[in-house]
Amino acid sequence: MSKVLCVLYDDPVDGYPKSYPRDDLPKIERYPGGQTLPTPKAIDFKPGMLLGSVSGELGLRKYVEALGHTLIVTSDKDGPNSVFERELPDAEVVISQPFWPAYLTAERIAKAKKLKLAVTAGIGSDHVDLQAAIDRKVTVAEVTYSNSISVSEHVVMMILSLVRNYIPSYQWVVKGGWNIADCVERSYDVEGMHVGTVAAGRIGLAVLRRLKPFDMHLHYYERHRLPEAVEKELNLAWHPNVEDMVKVCDVVTINAPLHPETEGLFNDKLLSNMKRGAYLVNTARGKICDRDAIVRALESGQLAGYAGDVWFPQPAPKDHPWRTMPHHGMTPHISGTSLSAQARYAAGTREILECWFERRPIREEYLIVDGGKLAGAGAHSYTAGDATGGSEAAAKFKNAR
Ligand code: NDP
Repeated sequence: MSKVLCVLYDDPVDGYPKSYPRDDLPKIERYPGGQTLPTPKAIDFKPGMLLGSVSGELGLRKYVEALGHTLIVTSDKDGPNSVFERELPDAEVVISQPFWPAYLTAERIAKAKKLKLAVTAGIGSDHVDLQAAIDRKVTVAEVTYSNSISVSEHVVMMILSLVRNYIPSYQWVVKGGWNIADCVERSYDVEGMHVGTVAAGRIGLAVLRRLKPFDMHLHYYERHRLPEAVEKELNLAWHPNVEDMVKVCDVVTINAPLHPETEGLFNDKLLSNMKRGAYLVNTARGKICDRDAIVRALESGQLAGYAGDVWFPQPAPKDHPWRTMPHHGMTPHISGTSLSAQARYAAGTREILECWFERRPIREEYLIVDGGKLAGAGAHSYTAGDATGGSEAAAKFKNAR
C-alpha cells in the first residue's frame, strides 16, 4: 500500500470555518477553449468548502483510505526536521500547492526513494526540480486550467487597484480621514493606456479579454504567435521580444511560467527599458522578477506601482523587502486559491489520483514530466532544469513565527 504525502497551507487563525458567506458556486461547464473541467468518478466534498488548508485535506481522506493507502497531511514543510522531510523517504505520492509549496529539490528527491508521482494541486510546478524529476523518472502533473480564470480576475483587480490608487485611498477611510487630494495625487484612469502581457497562454489571454472593455490598447509578447483571428478580434499588437513590448506599455502583466528561461527576466536592465511610471503586475512567479531591482525601481519612480501575489520563497520571510517597499499592492499567494478554484483543483487532484491508482493514463494536458522527459503541457510551456535554488530560505518564515 502507498503513502500519499500532502502539504497544504494552515487553517485560518480562528479555526476551520463552520459556515461560508455564500451557499453555492456558479456552475461552469467548460473552460474557455473547450477543455473539460476535472472528471473524477466522485468527490467527497461540497464545492465552496475550504479545501486547500490542512483540515480541508483537498477532500481526499475518505477516498485514499478506502483504497487502503495512508494519507499524511501537514503544513510543516521547511527545514530538515519538518514533518514533510520526515515523511518523505517512503512516500509514493507527494501533493503540494504553489501557494504553500513543498519544494521538491534534487536533495529531497534523492531522499524520497519511493517517490513516483508529484501532483501540483493548482498550476505551476516550478517548486519541483524538474530536471531531478526527469532524471529519477518521477511523474509530475498539475491541474491545468483549474485556476487560470481565477488568476486573470486577480490581475485585473490589481491593475485597477494600482492605477486608481485604491489601497491607499481605502486606508484613508479606515484611518478616519477624508483626504481626497492625498488619494488622487497618484490616481489615473486605465482608459487609453497600453497594457502588455508577457505570455498570452490561458491566463495572459484571459487578462487581455477582460481588459478589452476598458478601452485599453492591448499588447502581448509570446514565442508562438496567437491565431490571426484572435489578434484581430482583440486588436492585439504582438511583440517578438519582451524589450520591445515593455518600452511602449503603461502596464505590464507577467503570465509566463517560471523556468530557467524566465528566471530573473525583470532585472535592472529590463526595468530601465520600461516607460517611467509604468505599473508591473506579477501573479506568475516571484523569481521572474529580481527582488531588489523591483524595490529600486519603485524607490526611484521608474515603476509607479508593483502588485502581485507571488514571492520567493514562499512563505516570504518576515523581512522580505516586498512587504515594505513603496507603492505596492502585494497579497500572499491567493489568486489561484479562491474557494471556486479550490473546488476545481481538488477535483482535478482526485482525478489524477484515480488515474494513478487504477493505472489509467493521466490526461496529457495535466502532465509536466512523464517517463523521464517533459510531457504534455510541460513539453509546451516549460524547459528542463531547476528553478528551486534558494528555497531553503522559506524556513526563515517558520523560525520567525
Ligand atoms: P499556460 O501554459 O496556458 O501559459 C503559459 C504561456 O507562457 C504559454 O503560452 C507559453 O507559450 C508562455 N511562455 C513560456 N515561456 C515563455 C517565455 N520564455 N517567454 C514568453 N512566453 C513564454 O499557463 P497559464 O496561463 O495557465 O499559467 C501561467 C503561469 O501562471 C503558470 O505557469 C504559473 O506560474 C502562474 N500561475 C499562478 C497562479 C497564482 O495563483 N498566482 C495560479 C496559476 C498559474 P509558448 O510555450 O507557446 O511560447
